[in-house]
Amino acid sequence: MGKITGFLEIERVDRDYLPVEERLKNYNEFTIPLGEKGTRDQAARCMDCGVPYCHNGCPVNNQIPDWNDLVYKGEWLKALKNLHSTNNFPEFTGRICPAPCEASCTLNIPDTPVNIKSIECAIVDKGWEEGWITPQVNPNKTGRKVAVIGSGPAGMACAQQLARAGHDVHLYEKAHQIGGLMRYGIPNFKLDKTVIDRRVGQMVAEGVTLHTGVHVGHDVTIAQLSEQYDAIAMAGGAEKPRDLPIPGRAFDGIHFAMEFLGQQNRRVTGESLDNIKPILATGKHVVVIGGGDTGSDCIGTSNRHGAASVTQIEIMPMPPEKENKALTWPNWPLKLRTSSSHEEGVTRDFAVATVSFSGENGQVTALNCARADEKFQAIPGTEFSLKADLVLLAMGFVGPVQDGMIKEAGVDLDKRGNVLADVLQYKTTKEKIFSCGDMRRGQSLVVWAIREGRQCARSIDLYLMGKTDLPR
Ligand SMILES: Cc1cc2nc3c(=O)[nH]c(=O)nc-3n(C[C@H](O)[C@H](O)[C@H](O)COP(=O)(O)OP(=O)(O)OC[C@H]3O[C@@H](n4cnc5c(N)ncnc54)[C@H](O)[C@@H]3O)c2cc1C
Ligand code: SF4
Repeated sequence: MGKITGFLEIERVDRDYLPVEERLKNYNEFTIPLGEKGTRDQAARCMDCGVPYCHNGCPVNNQIPDWNDLVYKGEWLKALKNLHSTNNFPEFTGRICPAPCEASCTLNIPDTPVNIKSIECAIVDKGWEEGWITPQVNPNKTGRKVAVIGSGPAGMACAQQLARAGHDVHLYEKAHQIGGLMRYGIPNFKLDKTVIDRRVGQMVAEGVTLHTGVHVGHDVTIAQLSEQYDAIAMAGGAEKPRDLPIPGRAFDGIHFAMEFLGQQNRRVTGESLDNIKPILATGKHVVVIGGGDTGSDCIGTSNRHGAASVTQIEIMPMPPEKENKALTWPNWPLKLRTSSSHEEGVTRDFAVATVSFSGENGQVTALNCARADEKFQAIPGTEFSLKADLVLLAMGFVGPVQDGMIKEAGVDLDKRGNVLADVLQYKTTKEKIFSCGDMRRGQSLVVWAIREGRQCARSIDLYLMGKTDLPR
């Protein structure tokens, strides 16, 4: 523990954002780093409380008090090494993790948790700036070949760990570029794609072979891969979106969030959009259905397009603005969350059930809604309508797409339709096939995907070699 009285003397100060009018002009990241001194001051607030609840709250079990102490002492390189020992990609989580660690921090009891996420980001960003992050090539090759299918954070972490264990790793991805939902879902203003490219470069230098534009189950079969590889990791995510099959759903102008967000991310990075009908919010009244991260990203993107208005509706009642700490801490609390995209302009409404869509000449014009009761049913007599030229369905994902790879592999599924595998072995019910990330656990977070990818790699290494040095 660096400064014993740090938490008493230093106020919590978080990273600032560029002003709204400035950041809406483009799709660039807009977070302003705390700087070296600011970060050290914030790290000095860590009390090293003995029982590090933050460490347990973090899904990759980052050793937070240790690197806070190292940052406070100015030992940034050691802090980076420590951080990388538990997290392959701290620059992703340092930007987009909801930071359950901060909810668990003892200083969150008085609402002033240590700025763990900002410190994490500062450590790894400095590592890249200083040139400290280089490929870790294992010269001792095992001669074993592994196919990892899906290049989201789970597939990336799994592939990187396996390559570092000396295996010949081949990463298959149906999209044109690596990154999964971090590439095509999460907008550039939250995660610049050059941040992913940099890591992909490191992985390639470490020996991972990329096969982009290859849809397993369509372009190549699982049976073919089984013949070529000693083990297979399926990390294809939970891509099937939840639909809203109500009257009027077929009108033009009603889209799944990912159709809208994926297009925009491709537009920003100059990927070809040939033969794809553009979905633009420019000058439109936009209604986003669904109150989570995906909904927020639709709001931020719509405002950057120049929407006439943006409204977000959620079927759940409005959560409390502040949690009851005695009941929730150190767990993740249910409370009203206002994202940077919300701050950029949106009307939010809760406990709203969408009953039908209205339209003219095949194009959506309005949502017909009602207040929702506690069973999410429309309450008679509370009907109202919302003008809408563009409706974005951001109601989450029901699970992985089963047609193609999963059906072909013939693996068992759990009750929710995810690939069945436990969190010790990550082994499916088919020999040599493993699974991790959203494909196994259902829609989740980047940090959970990284954890599962790392642990799955360890299990595969053990399966192939009979022993493993990879960490869990
Ligand atoms: C819009 C949006 C915003 C989000 N924001 C956040 C956030 O701010 N913070 C956060 O922590 N989490 C966020 N999430 C959740 C997070 O992105 C996911 O939990 C995470 O990416 C899951 O990682 P994964 O590797 O398991 O799967 P994915 O990221 O979904 O990657 C799976 C990959 O597998 C590929 N694939 C699938 N099937 C095949 C096949 N048969 N052959 C070849 N390739 C295949 C897919 O193309 C995809 O690239 C967000 C999700 C969305 C949709
Ligand atoms: S990965 Fe997420 S939970 Fe873990 S330390 Fe970083 S911000 Fe916190």
